[in-house]
Amino acid sequence: MTAAAPPLSEPVLILGGGLMGLAVAHQLARRGVAVLVLSRRRSEAAGFVAAGMLAPHAEGIGGALLALGQASLARIPAWVAEIEADSDLSCGLRPCGIVVPFTTATERDAYPTAAWGTALDRAALEREIPGIGPRWRAGLLFEQDGQIDNRRRLMRALERACVQRGVRFEEGSEVLELITAPGVAAVAPDQDLAHQPFAGSAYTQGKDSPSGLAPESVGAAGPSPTVRPAATGAAAPMAVAGPATGSSPGSNQGPDPGTAPPARLPQLEAVRLRRADGRELVLPCQTAVLAGGAWSAQLLPQLPVVPVKGQMLSLQGPIGALPRVVFGPGTYLVPREDGLLVVGATSEAEAGFAEGLTPCGQRQLEQGIAALLPAASGWPPMERWWGFRPCTPDEGPLLGPGLISGLWLATGHHRNGVLLAALSAELVARGISGEASPGDAEHLEAFRWDRF
Ligand SMILES: Cc1cc2nc3c(=O)[nH]c(=O)nc-3n(C[C@H](O)[C@H](O)[C@H](O)COP(=O)(O)OP(=O)(O)OC[C@H]3O[C@@H](n4cnc5c(N)ncnc54)[C@H](O)[C@@H]3O)c2cc1C
Repeated sequence: MTAAAPPLSEPVLILGGGLMGLAVAHQLARRGVAVLVLSRRRSEAAGFVAAGMLAPHAEGIGGALLALGQASLARIPAWVAEIEADSDLSCGLRPCGIVVPFTTATERDAYPTAAWGTALDRAALEREIPGIGPRWRAGLLFEQDGQIDNRRRLMRALERACVQRGVRFEEGSEVLELITAPGVAAVAPDQDLAHQPFAGSAYTQGKDSPSGLAPESVGAAGPSPTVRPAATGAAAPMAVAGPATGSSPGSNQGPDPGTAPPARLPQLEAVRLRRADGRELVLPCQTAVLAGGAWSAQLLPQLPVVPVKGQMLSLQGPIGALPRVVFGPGTYLVPREDGLLVVGATSEAEAGFAEGLTPCGQRQLEQGIAALLPAASGWPPMERWWGFRPCTPDEGPLLGPGLISGLWLATGHHRNGVLLAALSAELVARGISGEASPGDAEHLEAFRWDRF
């Protein structure tokens, strides 16, 4: 059975206003879908933390993640053009290429993505990266990889583009709970969602009325007392991502009744949230996108997403001193157009959500700079910061419908979220608005939430 399409006037809720939330909101708004972004704290978003490398090849990833990364990389120029056109701001895209240095040619030739790069010997390495440290004897140049100035430009441009396209924001609003009604058929026994914390057949009344939000934006003043037929989602993403069956948001969430297994997914009815002033309210909704980054499992503990902390710093170098990104082991150097050198990053899975810089982490970066580009050790320091990557067991994202009918996932992008934002946002927006293509199905199938 296909889910009833929500009326066009009811907004899709975006749960989390970081990079993925903004990117999905923008793509939905471009398709004429009403969108409301619920954002707890924009400043904690990894979208403001990342180095902005667009590096499917330099990162040495493989399999379906490499295919997703390559497809997203190809989509980035057009995606950026859309954001820049809507915002009238530059995103700071630099297709400058990335060099990966190695201590031996053997190491270089064994790199998983070596076939996509140009092999460099020491002389060629010195030409690409003037001043590179003496220990590096070989390299791979990936001219197709690049960078985008996410921290200073892309995030701001995306926010402005969303606003220009009519996206509404509730900044300082924390989503506390997803409220559901029971579904209609069966899922695997270990996914009996009726017993999970977010499930509930009763409507939880908050302390405030949803009418506190603009009524034209939030739709009805309360959830429908009727339980809508649940569309299957994660149980059959191939069907979800197949040719469009309707053009309204949420209308393409169900598999072909003839081919799909039955599923008992609870139906999303509302979210409970706490606004910036401390008041709680329940906001009805039929369609939402979970884009909570590293915090996603706090809302849905079934999701295998954990934080991996990363520390960063920046230096002010001479303009043009470093023509390409250098992706070394444990440290990378990302030169912005104005000479700012963004240096990353530690990878601290054991840190959990512990905030702040550590001497050990900062030392790692400083040692990395000295090894990769000794002259940069003398450049003036600018900023130091940290953030949390949303990591999954195979380091690939969780994309598409899942766990709850009406809920879409756009999370778990770990260390490639900037690279993947272009395509992930399109896949989710196309799926929700009923425009998915058979090509989308392959990606969504590869990155189902329950693939592990
Ligand atoms: C140090 C570092 C370096 C990186 N470098 C790169 C790179 O070079 N290239 C690359 O491609 N990627 C990189 N990344 C990865 C990239 O930044 C992330 O994959 C991407 O930002 C994830 O986007 P997101 O929207 O899922 O999460 P975020 O951008 O973190 O946004 C999540 C948002 O959700 C909000 N939120 C969470 N829970 C709730 C709730 N209950 N209610 C309301 N709001 C909520 C949070 O406040 C936050 O603002 C890096 C990440 C880090 C940390």
